Amino acid sequence: MKTKLVLFDIDQTILHSGGAGEKALTLAVRDRLGPKANLGNVEIPGKTDVWIAHRILEAHGIEPTGEEVELLLNRYLHHLEATLASTSGRLLPGFPELLHALACLPDVAIGLLTGNLRRGAELKLGYYGVLDHFAFGAYADDSHDRNRLGQFAQKRAREAHGTEFQPADIFVIGDTPHDIACGKAIHARSVGVATGRYSRAELEAAGADFVFDDMSDVQDVIRTLGLARA
Ligand SMILES: [Mg+2]
Repeated sequence: MKTKLVLFDIDQTILHSGGAGEKALTLAVRDRLGPKANLGNVEIPGKTDVWIAHRILEAHGIEPTGEEVELLLNRYLHHLEATLASTSGRLLPGFPELLHALACLPDVAIGLLTGNLRRGAELKLGYYGVLDHFAFGAYADDSHDRNRLGQFAQKRAREAHGTEFQPADIFVIGDTPHDIACGKAIHARSVGVATGRYSRAELEAAGADFVFDDMSDVQDVIRTLGLARA
């Protein structure tokens, strides 16, 4: 029976898309808002795609109605498949090995907790060959507020595995202070990985329960998080 749940962020945690996401978003913004439009200084890492779309529209003086947000994000998804193929990204150290190792642990379930739209997550993980590891997740489609995504992930995990995972047995892994906050919002263990723009010290200062430089030492990660049976 599954008793432990590991929830993964995607960008800068599992993979680096080589800027494919930002490229696709820039193309979408130009499609919708004109050839000179850009992403401005809207914060992207650790935020949901829906939140990002709201801020971009506002920065261009457009009211972020549901329809405007959907039109912009549909263009983003339209471009993403091509930008993934034309950009050289990579899986980050320890992937896919960590996913294979977790799949071998009988009491561990894994899922996604990501600010990506579900379709965007599928495109990115599919392109890098790791989509099949994830049977469920919580996405930007569920809420624009990342801190509310944890409860959706818990619900999907319960539906997928027929059991309620206790907060102390849930691990939320991500590369930004927003991921750490998101884990704390459901009283889970927050796990920072310094493969994005935030340092180990910054993730510790954000209150992460565990921090790794990267996930390359898969057995150390499993041991440190207490995921293997003693
Ligand atoms: Mg990330």
